[in-house]
Amino acid sequence: MKWRDRRGSSNVRTSSGGGKMIGGGIGGIIIAGILWLVFGVNPMTALQTGQAVTAGSSTTTTEPATSNDRDTQFVKVVLADTEDVWNQVFSEGGQTYKEPSLVLFNGQVSSACGSATSATGPFYCPSDQTVYLDTSFFAEMRQNLGITGDQQGSGDIENQGRAGDFAQAYVISHEVGHHVQTLLGITQQVNQASRQVTQAQANKLSVLQELQADCFAGVWANRNQQRVQFLEPGDIDEAINAASQIGDDRLARNSGRAVTPDSFTHGTSQQRVNWFTRGLESGDVQTCDTFSGGL
Ligand SMILES: [Zn+2]
Repeated sequence: MKWRDRRGSSNVRTSSGGGKMIGGGIGGIIIAGILWLVFGVNPMTALQTGQAVTAGSSTTTTEPATSNDRDTQFVKVVLADTEDVWNQVFSEGGQTYKEPSLVLFNGQVSSACGSATSATGPFYCPSDQTVYLDTSFFAEMRQNLGITGDQQGSGDIENQGRAGDFAQAYVISHEVGHHVQTLLGITQQVNQASRQVTQAQANKLSVLQELQADCFAGVWANRNQQRVQFLEPGDIDEAINAASQIGDDRLARNSGRAVTPDSFTHGTSQQRVNWFTRGLESGDVQTCDTFSGGL
């Protein structure tokens, strides 16, 4: 994927989670230990999910990302690409696109949807219209996808510039897809409907919502290709590989609640691949109506 020498977004911020997380550190471990004794809750799980041990206020400050490292630059360019595409798509529909923020964090972060850790994975919080991305996400993706980085100095021209870039961009654009759903009122409708149906039906709705975000990611890739010809041979396979392997982004549906791992509500690998491909081939959000089949 080609991405150098394009505009970077000014909506990327970095989070410095101060050391004042109440319940973190030794105190948190003690509380978690008690939880384990009393309730049988594995303290590591509790710590990772930020449940129970993060009561009280935490201080997390964000500031514009000034780092020039490769990953930060990459995120800025991909987010800018989503801004340009979605501004255009909304404008064509006579609407105005409100650009989301993106927070890069390291270790722990507090969002309007609750606190999250690296274990949460990339997520979008509708309440503050922000995508959250842990910096370890890139390394994990390279590892999980068997991708070894930028191949710098390898002398292998064929591989330079690929190295999983597009798979990472796909994940970011999937999260931005959730932002688009929020702007379109889809997220709110799903939340409302989910409260009135059984858990199984609510899970199904969540799957349909996730698959639509995959489709929107495909639409973005199509439109961005028309705009800047950024795709290189192998990129689509790379994204499809990612779509089939990463069934596991974590979605915080309701504001004010902790970000809850939700691994069983993202659809099957094949469904994810199908919907991403549909958006990619059409470049049209109208083809992304995953909900019309109903429950
Ligand atoms: Zn998602």
